[in-house]
Amino acid sequence: ALDVELRKVFKVFNGETAVRGVDLNIHQGEFFSILGPSGCGKTTTLRLIAGFESPSAGEVLIQNQSMTHVPPYRRPVNTVFQSYALFNHLTVWENVAFGLRIKRLPKAAVADRVKGALKLVKMESYANRFPTQLSGGQQQRVALARALVNRPAVLLLDEPLGALDLKLRKEMQVELSNLHQDLGLTFVMVTHDQEEALSLSDRISVMHEGKIEQIGTPSEIYERPQTAFVADFIGDTNLFRGRVIASEGSDLQVLTDNKMKIFVQKQESTPVFQSQDSVVVSVRPEKIKLSFESPCVKSNCFAGQLKNVMYMGTHVHCLVELDSGDRMTVMQANNFATLPDVNQPVYVYWNTHDCLAL
Ligand code: ADP
Ligand code: MG
Repeated sequence: ALDVELRKVFKVFNGETAVRGVDLNIHQGEFFSILGPSGCGKTTTLRLIAGFESPSAGEVLIQNQSMTHVPPYRRPVNTVFQSYALFNHLTVWENVAFGLRIKRLPKAAVADRVKGALKLVKMESYANRFPTQLSGGQQQRVALARALVNRPAVLLLDEPLGALDLKLRKEMQVELSNLHQDLGLTFVMVTHDQEEALSLSDRISVMHEGKIEQIGTPSEIYERPQTAFVADFIGDTNLFRGRVIASEGSDLQVLTDNKMKIFVQKQESTPVFQSQDSVVVSVRPEKIKLSFESPCVKSNCFAGQLKNVMYMGTHVHCLVELDSGDRMTVMQANNFATLPDVNQPVYVYWNTHDCLAL
C-alpha cells in the first residue's frame, strides 16, 4: 500500500524553483531516504509532505487522500527536526506530553502514551530532567518520542542525526533502524550523508537541483547509478568523460577526452549509445587493481606514476597519475608487507564489467 505520494510537485520561492516536478511513491512501512547535497530541495520536499509548505503545482497524497487542503496538524505525520526544537523551560515529560495536551486527551491517556513513547527511546528515567541537562543524543531521543507519541502513520525526519558527533551518530543510526523495525511505521528521512542513507534505507531517492535523479535500493544506487551525478555523489568514483567510438557486440568502446581507450561491458542497465555519443565512464576505486609490473591484460590497463599512498587500516588508498594526465583513486585491500614507495611507475587495470557507461 502507498503511504505517501507526490505527483509532479513543484515549489517556487520568489521566482526560484526549489522543487521541480518531483514524483514519489513511498510504501507503507518503508524506510525511505531523500539524499542529496545541501540546497537541492530535500527539506522543502519533506515540508511539502508535512504540510508546512503547499505545492506551487502538483499534488501530495497521504494514504490515498489528497492533502491539498489539510493543515499540518491534521495530517497523519510528525516531523523530527535536526535542531530537536525542544522547549527548554519544560521537562522531558512535559515536552513529550505537549502535543497531546493541546489535543485535550484525557490525563490518564496522556500519561500512558508519554510513558510508552519514552520507553521506546529508552528515556523513561529522564522524564523529570530539562533538555539542557541532556546530551545531544538524549535530546534527539526526546524529539523522537515527542513525534512518536502522536502515533503518526508516517514519521518525517529532517537530518535527524546531523547535530551529533560521528560515534554517537553511528549509535543512533542503529537505534533508528531498530525503532523502525519495532514500530513498522513509514519513515521518510532527509540526509546529505550517503553512508547513512545506504545503511538505513529500504529505498533512496537521490535529489539534485530540485529533481529526483534516481530512486532505488541502496545496492541499485551504488552498483548501478544511472547518471554521472549519482555515481559521483554516492561513494567515491573515478569519472572519465569521452565519446563512444564503437558500440557493436558486448562491449562499448570509449575514447576519453585524454585519449584513453576504455572498454565497457554492456549490462542490462547500460543506456543505448550510438557512435560519437558523449559518455561518462565510472570506475569505483575498489574495482581497480594495481601492479608494479606490466600485467597480462588486453584492455583497460594504463601506465602511470604512484603519487600518494594513504594507510587506512584494512585498506590502502592510492593516488595514481596516469600518462594520459588523468588522476585515479585506487582502493586496495591492505596486502602489502610494507607500503609501496611513491613516485614509482605503476599500472592500473580493471575488468570491462567493473566499469559503467553513463
Ligand atoms: P536542502 O534541504 O536540500 O538543503 P532546501 O529544501 O532547504 O534544501 O532548499 C532548496 C532551495 O530552496 C534553496 O535554494 C533554498 O535557498 C530555497 N528555499 C528553501 N526554503 C525557502 C524559503 N522559505 N524561502 C525562499 N527560499 C527558500
Ligand atoms: Mg535541509
